Order: sequence, then C-alpha cells, then structure tokens
Amino acid sequence: MLYILKSIFYTFFPKKCICCGNILQTDEKFMCQKCNDLYPYPDKIEYKEEFFAPLAPYMADICILGHYHILKQPVLKFKFNSNVFCGRLLTDMFCGKLKRQQWINDIDYIVPVPLHKKKLRKRGFNQSQVIARMIGKSLNIPVQADNLRRIKNTYDQHLSRGSQRYDNVKGAFALKDIALFKNKSILLVDDVITTCSTSVECCKVLKQCEGIKIYIGAIASDRKIL
Ligand SMILES: [Zn+2]
Repeated sequence: MLYILKSIFYTFFPKKCICCGNILQTDEKFMCQKCNDLYPYPDKIEYKEEFFAPLAPYMADICILGHYHILKQPVLKFKFNSNVFCGRLLTDMFCGKLKRQQWINDIDYIVPVPLHKKKLRKRGFNQSQVIARMIGKSLNIPVQADNLRRIKNTYDQHLSRGSQRYDNVKGAFALKDIALFKNKSILLVDDVITTCSTSVECCKVLKQCEGIKIYIGAIASDRKIL
C-alpha cells in the first residue's frame, strides 16, 4: 500500500538530483549517477601542484570532498538558504572520506574558518562551523571554534580577483590563545576553497603555535581535477 502511494506521489512530484536538478531514477538517491561519477576528488590530492602550492609549506595534508562545479547547488542551498538537509548530506559524504585518511585519528581539534561577527549577524550562522560540528560529532573529535577569530570583515572571495584575494584576507585572522594549539594536530575546516588565500592566511596565524600540525578539509574546491 505504502509502495503504491509512494509511486503515485513521485509520479506527480518526482525526486530530483540535488546537484543538477535532473529527475532521479528509482535506484538513485539524492544524486544522479552522472553527478555521482563526476563530483569526487581523489582521496590523496597532489597538493604540490600549482593550485594548492601556496598551502604546501604550511599544511601536513588536505582532504576535499569534490568539485565545486558539481556540488555548487547543495553547497549554496546550505550556505544561503540554511538548507540543513544539504549540509548534512554533504558532511556525511565528507566524513566517509575523512575516515579513510590515516591521519584522522591524530586530530586533536577541528577548527572552522571563522566568519566576522558582522557577517555572522547578517547570515545567522557560520556554515564552516556547522560543518565542523557535524564532523566533530560524527568522528568524535572536539571542535574549537573560539580560538581562531576573524578580526577583519572581508568581502566574499568570489567577488575579488587574483592578487586582490590575498590583499582582501591579509591580516584578517588572529588567535586568542596561542598556547592552546601548541603541539596539536588540527583540522582546519572550510566549506569551499575558491582560492587558497583564506586557508593560507589562517595557516600563517596558526603557525604561531609551536609544534602545530595543520590539516585542511573542505567540502568543495574550484580546482578541477578530472
Ligand atoms: Zn545530477
């Protein structure tokens, strides 16, 4: 009976892929096969290549779920429409990938890229912090969201170009307590890596902590690795 009702319902309201909006086949869940085949980044990213090269001197490793051009719709729905379902789905997929990283068990704190308090007030929540908390809960790792702070209100990175992006975030971050991250391994979490400039600025500040090991995690990146 339930099956028949479901079939009638989905005839009128077919389930659509969260990424491309195409109607899903009965065996597809949330994402169509085509998007599913195209979204993932490799488990091991060769970050010495040009795009991630600015981060190489600071970080121990990087883990990114997938391509922004495929995951754009769910990422934006989560960020600007507070669509928790999309956030949860992306984070669950991301946790599956993080669990395969051999360093994940060494992480002492998950640290979200902070938003400036003015932007936080405007948007209502920091998407990176929500992602960090979901990861922390799922992988049982403490989240430290108060130590790394945004002291400069920058405009969105996608609105600036090239070297402007570095100027935009320069000096934007500060640490409240340098001793807290001394000799700790941290996973710095962002939603999207558009350029590496935000992560680089965070790393520069975090590197003030003696013996710190920085790992970087993001849901999506503009960098196309096909
Ligand atoms: Zn699709």
